[in-house]
Amino acid sequence: MKSPAGHSGVQQSARLFERASAVIPGGVNSPVRAFGAVGGVPRFIREARGCWLFDEDGNRYVDLVCSWGPMILGHAHPAVVEAVREAAVKGLSFGAPTESEVELAEEIVRRVAPVEQVRLVNSGTEATMSAVRLARGFTGRTKIIKFAGCYHGHVDALLADAGSGVATFGLPTSPGVTGAQASDTLVLPYNDLGAVQRAFAEHPGEIAAVITEAAAGNMGAVAPLPGFNAGLQQVCHENGALLIMDEVMTGFRISDAGWYGVEGVAGDLYTFGKVMSGGLPAAAFGGRADVMGYLAPAGPVYQAGTLSGNPVAVAAGLATLQHATPDVYTALRKNHAELRDLLADSFRGAGISHRVQSAGTMVSVFFTGEPVQNYAQAKACETWRYSAFFHALLERGVYAPPSAFEAWFVSAALDDEAFAVIADAVPAAVRAAAEASPPEPARA
Ligand SMILES: *Cc1c(COP(=O)(O)O)cnc(C)c1O
Repeated sequence: MKSPAGHSGVQQSARLFERASAVIPGGVNSPVRAFGAVGGVPRFIREARGCWLFDEDGNRYVDLVCSWGPMILGHAHPAVVEAVREAAVKGLSFGAPTESEVELAEEIVRRVAPVEQVRLVNSGTEATMSAVRLARGFTGRTKIIKFAGCYHGHVDALLADAGSGVATFGLPTSPGVTGAQASDTLVLPYNDLGAVQRAFAEHPGEIAAVITEAAAGNMGAVAPLPGFNAGLQQVCHENGALLIMDEVMTGFRISDAGWYGVEGVAGDLYTFGKVMSGGLPAAAFGGRADVMGYLAPAGPVYQAGTLSGNPVAVAAGLATLQHATPDVYTALRKNHAELRDLLADSFRGAGISHRVQSAGTMVSVFFTGEPVQNYAQAKACETWRYSAFFHALLERGVYAPPSAFEAWFVSAALDDEAFAVIADAVPAAVRAAAEASPPEPARA
């Protein structure tokens, strides 16, 4: 295929991908980066500023991935970079407490009312793993409910998928996860409160916690139906279980208090990452003081980390939150609305079944005629159209997520120039999606 004007090829990225593939499994340090779902050469990024990514071949892209969420202020925000520089010259890690980690904890507690105490960790995966352990330790129970299509990092117990039929125990979704690890996890359809109620009825006194994305973003943007989160809260409390709201993606993005800030349904425990990391490795879990008090050294549940609360990461996260002012959230809402409307307008009359669907300020394009409310519906979409759509955008300078099952993320740094690039690219991408054909069925 001939590249549109202005695109200077992908030779350097292709060369680097080949080099990477020799020494890094699959050439990447996190699978979705390899473009496996959409094909083609993953772009190796040289630098990023504001809403723009620059690759090793000199191509420029409007960034609608934002490092999978963190970069709400845009890349290399001067105040965040300065905060990191100031922290770095004072030393990179002490393995001892610092004032700045107290400030970050206070900022999180101030923003999210149900969070009374937090513990800092290094990744969202660690946050959910620790929250699940704490919930089990606090309740003295073993089983966990999760929802199909919700992603909580690569925690063994949470890499489980639904077995056949509703309310069966989970089956491992990855070799290396044992049946025992997955079998304490009940996997239920998202947005199906009845299934949750039945699971509690079938396993009285056994379920430690329900973990859910406060609004799902890892099967594409799928908001909880009205009453779903409140229903989870109620059924958990009636049964002595904890509700773990995973806000790693939505936290401090959807509003200053994350999804909680728009819906107001309190979880017992929360997990955070992405935005509060400022783009460095940092994450957190927190919640009710009586539950958090079960953590070592205050309580018996062990959890630790050599680099937890790292001063440089904390500086990036704190500076990001301090600059995530009401104006920034206004800009995120405006930019999301502009992107959503531009997508919806471009699809109108194109004759393809589609949904431009939002959860707060996250948006996704699903190639289906029906609303997508759970993972089965997301998987039933014509995902092969997404590959054509994605590559047409990429060639025209728009970096959307390289997977049909991801949310698109706006930053406050998107400007008129960026939206002009998006507005030029989307109609061509819609045509490419319309002209795409399904993959040949495999021959026997
Ligand atoms: C990204 C994500 C995680 C995992 O965070 P990592 O930092 O990648 O380990 C967990 N939960 C949700 C909802 C996420 O979006």
